[in-house]
Amino acid sequence: MKRRVHSEEVKAAALQKLAERGVTVEDIAEIAYVMQSPYNKGLTLQDCVASVKKVLEKREVLHALLVGIELDTLAEKGLLSEPLQSIVESDEGLFGCDETLALGSVLGYGSIAVTTFGYLDKDKIGIIKRLDTKIGKGVHTFLDDLVASIAASASSRIAHRMRDEEENGQDRADAI
Ligand code: MG
Repeated sequence: MKRRVHSEEVKAAALQKLAERGVTVEDIAEIAYVMQSPYNKGLTLQDCVASVKKVLEKREVLHALLVGIELDTLAEKGLLSEPLQSIVESDEGLFGCDETLALGSVLGYGSIAVTTFGYLDKDKIGIIKRLDTKIGKGVHTFLDDLVASIAASASSRIAHRMRDEEENGQDRADAI
């Protein structure tokens, strides 16, 4: 019989894989902070950590993480079939499936998420730069884009929530 997977199992697995690949919530929050602090005076890194945690509750984001990290890991072990093995291992610039997978998970967060994702794809900062396969060790062809997508979604959430806070005098903790 096919096993139905519980959401909590998906979340735990995705967060564990992320940690195993050396990415922390704070790493992603730092990128969101760089993206949003010019527009939101008083924004703190803790606000960004809270926003990243919210994004990491979305099933679509968690599924994308599981798929992408799995492919990176298999490529690292040389277990994909050719020509996919060489394409993923070398982080082939025109591959595009890594960006497409990541882009899919930002769409629910609106235009700021989409444009921030595009920006981070060009100007890799923080942990995204460290994960870039062309610079560092290991295969992170999918993970760099997934991290960019989570940071972009968290950035968009912050932009909208901070406005809500301004307009409604909402408490920061509730807004973010
Ligand atoms: Mg990539």
